[in-house]
Amino acid sequence: MPNPWDKIVGTKEYNKNYERLIKFARQKGYVFNKKISRVKKVIGLMTMNYLEYGKYYCPCKQSEPPDLEKDVLCPCPTLDQEVKKDGHCFCELFFQKEKGVNKKAQETKRKEVK
Ligand code: SF4
Repeated sequence: MPNPWDKIVGTKEYNKNYERLIKFARQKGYVFNKKISRVKKVIGLMTMNYLEYGKYYCPCKQSEPPDLEKDVLCPCPTLDQEVKKDGHCFCELFFQKEKGVNKKAQETKRKEVK
């Protein structure tokens, strides 16, 4: 059965968000989860939030129904704390470098999602 985010993965909006987040990861010295399915899910759902609400709400931390005033945007303010404590953010998108993947694998993933 297809996932709700399958239709958004690889679109212009998805790629724009992907590039934004990978750039941020590089600046911070983080990497994405080595499980590409997880990356697609988190960035896909986040992109769907952007298309619906105009902001990059974190799909793992949003209220149900969404609280557009209080729900956090990605990257969230507690990201560094979470990575320090668990080795990854709450959504398991950003990982500490040594617990993620090497640069070559990261580039391969980029090609896969386009
Ligand atoms: S937990 Fe924070 S850093 Fe991770 S995807 Fe959600 S908002 Fe982004």
